[in-house]
Amino acid sequence: MGERNWSIGAWQEVAAGVFRLVAQPASVNVGLVVGSEAALLVDTGSSPDQGAQLRAAVQQVTDKPLAAVVVTHDHFDHAFGLAGFGGIRTIGHESLEQTLQSPGAADGARELGFDPATLAVPETLIGVADAVELGGSRVAEIAHLGVGHTRGDLIVNVADPAAKDFDGVIFAGDLIESAGAPFFGPDSSVDEWSWTLDRLYSLARPGVIIVPGHGDPVDRDFVRDQRDTVDAVRMEFGRLVGDGVAQDEALARGNWPFPAEHIAGVVATAYSEIRAQAAQQPGAGDRPTLPLA
Ligand SMILES: [Zn+2]
Repeated sequence: MGERNWSIGAWQEVAAGVFRLVAQPASVNVGLVVGSEAALLVDTGSSPDQGAQLRAAVQQVTDKPLAAVVVTHDHFDHAFGLAGFGGIRTIGHESLEQTLQSPGAADGARELGFDPATLAVPETLIGVADAVELGGSRVAEIAHLGVGHTRGDLIVNVADPAAKDFDGVIFAGDLIESAGAPFFGPDSSVDEWSWTLDRLYSLARPGVIIVPGHGDPVDRDFVRDQRDTVDAVRMEFGRLVGDGVAQDEALARGNWPFPAEHIAGVVATAYSEIRAQAAQQPGAGDRPTLPLA
C-alpha cells in the first residue's frame, strides 16, 4: 500500500525512564520502559518491518538490552510487528495463539501489503499475569484484568517503589482511548468492559500516568470517566434488549454517548451477551419475576 504513511514519531518521556512514540498508519502508542539492567517494549506496530524499525529505535533512548516485548492485544496496529523481534521474549494473552493465526488476521496482513505467513504469535502466552524485572526495583507487571476491548487485553503496570518522584505508569492498550471515543468491535465485550475498567481504576493510584492505546497520556480520573461511558453503552444495550428493540434497529434507536460508528461492529455480540446473561439470571433481563413471599 504505497500511499499509506508508515512513519514513526520521536520518543517522548512520559515519566522517568518511561517513553512513548506514535506509529502510523493507525496513530498507535508504542511504549518503552527502561530500567537499570534492561528495557521492555509495549506493542509492536503494524507490520514486521515496522516492528524491526521500532526495535532499532529503542537504541535512540538506551543501550540496555530489550528483555521483552508485550502486545496489549491482537489488533494489527499493536501486534502485527511481532515478527520484527526475533530472538527476544515476546508476551501476549493466550487467546492470541488463535486470533493471530485466524483468516481475519491473514486478511488484515494482505490488506496492509505484506505476506500473512510473516505474522508471528508471542512466544510467552499468559492467562492472568506475569512480570519482567528491569533492574533495581523497577518491574513491569503484565496482567489480563478481564475482557473488554478484545478477549485478550493485557495491561502493563510499571512499578518502581524505590525510585523518587515516580508514581507509576500503566500502559492500558485500547481498554482506554484518549484520541477519541473507545472503539467497540465484534470481539469486544459490552457486558464486561466496564468491570475490567473498575479493576484498572483500583490498580491506578493517585499520580499514576495511564498511557492509552491511542492519544495522549491521562490520569486515573479519566479512567473512571471512561468506565462510566463504557458502562452507559452496556446499560443502553440492556434497555434495548429489554424493550424488545430488534438488533438491526439498535444503532438508530439507542441513545449513545458517542458516535454510533464506534459501536456498529459490536451490536450482534452485545445482543447475544445480554440475552445469554438474562437467560442465566432470570429477573436480570426482560423476564417477569415472581414476588418473593
Ligand atoms: Zn484495538
